[in-house]
Amino acid sequence: MVFESIGTMGHEEVVYCHNKDAGLKAIIAIHNTALGPALGGLRMWPYKSEQEALNDVLRLSRGMTYKASVSGLNLGGGKAVIIGDPSKDKSEALFRALGRYINSLNGRYVTAEDVGIDVNDMEYVLHETQYVTGVHPVHGGSGDPSPFTAYGTMQGILASLNHRFGNEDVGRYSFAVQGVGHVGFELVKLLRQEGAKVFVTDIDKAQVARCVDELGCEAVALDEIYDVDADVYSPCALGGTVNQDTLDRFKFKVVCGAANNQLATDECGDELEKRGMIYAPDYAVNAGGLMNVSIELDGYDEERARRMMRSIYYNVGRIFQIAKRDGIPTWKAADRMAEERITAVGRLKLPHMGYTPPRFHGRKRG
Ligand code: NAD
Repeated sequence: MVFESIGTMGHEEVVYCHNKDAGLKAIIAIHNTALGPALGGLRMWPYKSEQEALNDVLRLSRGMTYKASVSGLNLGGGKAVIIGDPSKDKSEALFRALGRYINSLNGRYVTAEDVGIDVNDMEYVLHETQYVTGVHPVHGGSGDPSPFTAYGTMQGILASLNHRFGNEDVGRYSFAVQGVGHVGFELVKLLRQEGAKVFVTDIDKAQVARCVDELGCEAVALDEIYDVDADVYSPCALGGTVNQDTLDRFKFKVVCGAANNQLATDECGDELEKRGMIYAPDYAVNAGGLMNVSIELDGYDEERARRMMRSIYYNVGRIFQIAKRDGIPTWKAADRMAEERITAVGRLKLPHMGYTPPRFHGRKRG
């Protein structure tokens, strides 16, 4: 069963990590290291079964391969999951036990924060291994990635406007932003700085009020966001909001936001295209967070991070070109761009070239 899933999805390695005393049950999945070490977050979740945990780690690690490749990073795709409840099962021993497993992989997998994990947990992992990113800036970490993700999303928006309208005058267009949390709020700030009209919604009323009072946005009810007559829909909350129910309501011309897995199904991506809407693939647009932590591998440098975020403009533009070249929807073009790079660059390796673990510069441990 495990080999069947790994074979179908093309994983290189899956590691089951167990430590009875620390209560650790975790799975690390390394999908592909053709471009470099597999970097991807650590998630802690009360999975109902081991199979559910395995499915999640396999799916997420594969997604990281595509995200890193399309973003031009010298990284592969990996992910780790801990089976447990983050509100009650965390301990120093748990994270240190996992850190030892990560260390045993000699840099083939580099971890980061994901759902259920915070910067303090990462510091325990750091006691055992240097193959960890997203730690506190005092340890050479890059800090909160959200402003960078927002900045990168803005680059995706610029590329999409250019493709759809032939200009990048953000201030001439209107935006419907769903979710104004860490990323959404920062994105709205950038849009308003350019003078754009911005509609916002969020289940957190205080966040909406901040956008209205501090940034001059217009608030709309949660479900009304899909009906707003705006040029751009920017999902920055949940996945799956481009679905069979919402599609019929869209008057948007562009869909470009930070949320992961925006399309409920691939067919919804096809449908957007058929209806004349441009979809900027989510994992290319929201790669700012991954880019930011990736710089920790060389010693974090904010200026370099900003420069790297700007490449999202190019990456999204290239996806649109591939879609046109091959007559395919943009979601498929993103996958193709990622696969083409893995094949082309992966081929450059000479057979005698062994694996070199990543070297961390500027990392202060303990
Ligand atoms: P966040 O939790 O800070 O913000 C999400 C916001 O969405 C919250 O304010 C929440 O109240 C709101 N929300 C939840 N359900 C909603 C609904 N049904 N309608 C309207 N609003 C709703 O998260 P974030 O870090 O800002 O991330 C936002 C999205 O971007 C997520 O999908 C995340 O996976 C993705 N993403 C984030 C980063 C990053 O750097 N933080 C990087 C890549 C992708």
